[in-house]
Amino acid sequence: MAYKISEQCNLCDACRLQCPRNAISIAESGTIYTIDEDLCNDCANLSAVRCVPHCPVDAISQA
Ligand code: SF4
Ligand code: SF4
Repeated sequence: MAYKISEQCNLCDACRLQCPRNAISIAESGTIYTIDEDLCNDCANLSAVRCVPHCPVDAISQA
């Protein structure tokens, strides 16, 4: 399991700054951000998922 970013992403950078595992970066395409599934742990060790509520276009969802 890991979270994923959809094509709706507008590169605002908000999610990347929130991720405690540095799992978010710009995709190779350069048009959206992407989540490294090996680094993302679904924020399982925290009380809530960090990235999702910071996305202004609801582009982040569970894979
Ligand atoms: S769910 Fe948590 S660990 Fe995964 S990308 Fe979002 S903030 Fe990072
Ligand atoms: S917060 Fe949403 S729109 Fe902004 S970079 Fe992340 S996924 Fe893209």
